[in-house]
Amino acid sequence: MRLRMLSGLGALTAAAILTGCDSQPDTTKLAETKVDAAAKLKATKAAKVKKAAQVRANELGQIPVLMFHRIVPKPQTTDDRSPQQFKADLERLVREDYVPITAAEMVAGKIDIPAGKHPVVLTFDDSSPSQLTLNQMGEPQKDTAVAIMKEVADAHPGWKPKGTFYVTRDMFGKTVREEQAQMLLWLKDNGHEIGNHTSDHLNLRGRSHKEVEDQIGKIAAQINALSYTKPTTIALPYGNQPNKKDWAMRGKLYNHQGAFLAGYTPAPAPFSKSYDAAGIPRIKAMDKKGDCAQFCSHAWLDWLKKNPDMRYTSDGDPRTVAYPKYKAPYLRKSFTTWSLPY
Ligand SMILES: [Zn+2]
Repeated sequence: MRLRMLSGLGALTAAAILTGCDSQPDTTKLAETKVDAAAKLKATKAAKVKKAAQVRANELGQIPVLMFHRIVPKPQTTDDRSPQQFKADLERLVREDYVPITAAEMVAGKIDIPAGKHPVVLTFDDSSPSQLTLNQMGEPQKDTAVAIMKEVADAHPGWKPKGTFYVTRDMFGKTVREEQAQMLLWLKDNGHEIGNHTSDHLNLRGRSHKEVEDQIGKIAAQINALSYTKPTTIALPYGNQPNKKDWAMRGKLYNHQGAFLAGYTPAPAPFSKSYDAAGIPRIKAMDKKGDCAQFCSHAWLDWLKKNPDMRYTSDGDPRTVAYPKYKAPYLRKSFTTWSLPY
């Protein structure tokens, strides 16, 4: 025993001499570091799983992508919301733990919201001045969509005023190039997304490949020239896909990661097998009445609240896709390395 200890010491001394200091040989250190790292990784994963289970994370659940048009004092069509209605829509989202992300973030799978919260995408079509008008000070005019979003965000820390604005050549009613640039740059500088809604808002169904490319490419080039932005998402006018849905995704002047439709259900999570980037459904923002009794925002938000296992709930870590184990068959294969079943 004693002899062994001594020879052990001898070996240590020899090692110390060899490495020129009293530290352990590098190979031992490396092995221990690897063991440590593996243990740490395991502990971190266990902690992540525990947290995901605590908040009942479901990152394969559905995401409401709400579709707004004009925000006007006297709504004239069923697409319009009054400023009061719009504010109430947003306040309900705050109350029910929804946090806005942009459409671009959704399609890129960058859903970075706190644990236990649900993502919502707020989209605005047709670039109407009621969505964005700036006063002489360069501040959003009262009762525009962007002003109301900011009011709600100011009253509820942690809630972000993030919208996706699908722009046509109408450009928020501006015809002068400098003013058009000011609108787009304001959106970009204030955390909103600029999306493509085609130049002339034509129905793309049944049109030639060239016509489709011209309509989408023309506004893409204009947006890029004015604001140095290349939109990564498009909203199809009337929700209609062109004859080949890929025509809306890729063209000489554009390369989209997602194309959005106009109806009528919440959207699958981008990590889910049922997700189709070329046809992502949206929900019209409207009360439960008439045509909207079942398939517009109030009805769907009621449904998602009643069916929490169908709704996207974040685990707070954008680098993982967390979900209850029994949902595993719904995971898209490409996200296997991110997956965190619990
Ligand atoms: Zn439109």
